[in-house]
Amino acid sequence: MKRPFQLLFSFLIIYSCGNTKHVSFENYIDTTDKLINEQKKQTFYSEDQEVFVSNEFSGARINDFEKINDSTVRVVINPENEPINNSAYYAFKIWSKSPKTYYVNFDYPEEYNHRYIPKIYKNNSWTILDSLNIIEQNNKTSIKLSLNNSPQIVAAQQIEDYNSVISWSKTLDEKNSNLVHFDYYGESSEKRKLPILKLNNGGTKNKDVIVLLTRQHPPEVTGYYAFQHFINSLIKENNLSKQFFDKYQILAFPILNPDGVEKGHWRHNANGVDTNRDWSRYNQKEIKQTVKYINKYVKKNHSRVIIGLDFHSTWYDVFYTNKERASTTLPNFVSEWFEGIEANYPNYKVKEASGNSLKPVSKGWFLKAHNAVGITFEIGDKTPKENIELIGNIAATQMMELLLDTKN
Ligand SMILES: [Zn+2]
Repeated sequence: MKRPFQLLFSFLIIYSCGNTKHVSFENYIDTTDKLINEQKKQTFYSEDQEVFVSNEFSGARINDFEKINDSTVRVVINPENEPINNSAYYAFKIWSKSPKTYYVNFDYPEEYNHRYIPKIYKNNSWTILDSLNIIEQNNKTSIKLSLNNSPQIVAAQQIEDYNSVISWSKTLDEKNSNLVHFDYYGESSEKRKLPILKLNNGGTKNKDVIVLLTRQHPPEVTGYYAFQHFINSLIKENNLSKQFFDKYQILAFPILNPDGVEKGHWRHNANGVDTNRDWSRYNQKEIKQTVKYINKYVKKNHSRVIIGLDFHSTWYDVFYTNKERASTTLPNFVSEWFEGIEANYPNYKVKEASGNSLKPVSKGWFLKAHNAVGITFEIGDKTPKENIELIGNIAATQMMELLLDTKN
């Protein structure tokens, strides 16, 4: 009697491991949970200045606040834990009882410095703080603000919090119900549901899959904007899109690190881990479930992952590619895609940095786990919105044209 159960049990173990098979990388990075310094949610009040500063909203980050003189304050901004990259993210709400000119000095721990030009949210819109109001002195940054009793947000980047990503995703589904299918596939360690957008024309069997990822790193919203434009271009009602979805399908993950986004983290998730170093052993729930979902999906549909694009932001636009091409399903894709982008984007020169994915990053995982083309699609922190739209659109169009070409 015992044997059939044992057999079934071992089958289940093998089967479930099969969907999250570990992938080895040359440089192992420990991605087990780390402690983070929780940011205390509060509204600071400087009584004699009659100024309020608050971090009581999604995506906020300010750890302390100290009056320097009548019109100046020091704001302390700390990372969630260390070691961490210098992506000194901040976001706070500020207002005063009566109108006043006010100076805010940014104070980061010693090894970090000011990276992001402040974005201001007031009167229901975001603007970039005028450079005349940014003062750089002795490696420190101060900004000049005009305060009044209506709160404004000062943030490293425009805030695209979890709810805004979910609402964008759902709207996309509602407006394009024939192609876009919104769903949840798991949950983060703080139990936020992980969303997915499946783009297909109904048929999913035997169609190759392109995977799109973004927001592993919370402040990298310019990458998220490129991801949005890329998708908008794929689903445009035109002949190219129609032909494309006759042969291919997309799995798009619009927010891989929702906890980090909500907590105003510089880079890590709620467990203090860079999820883009976890694509080997999947110690983090967010990555483990994503890997499992992708692997199971392609198996069920008898399809293959052929391309994985992971949208991020850094100092400038750059594509991080894998040196290894010959073993991928599309050995010529990268160079032809870049040529296509350059041919269609006037005066644009693709910057490519290619390497061996020694660390467990997603682009290496696409290569090693699926023989797919893996690319980290980086948009500059300061790349203007119209340029992000252009690169997102052209990159998507060129990908579709190339894939239809290759197959013919
Ligand atoms: Zn990144």
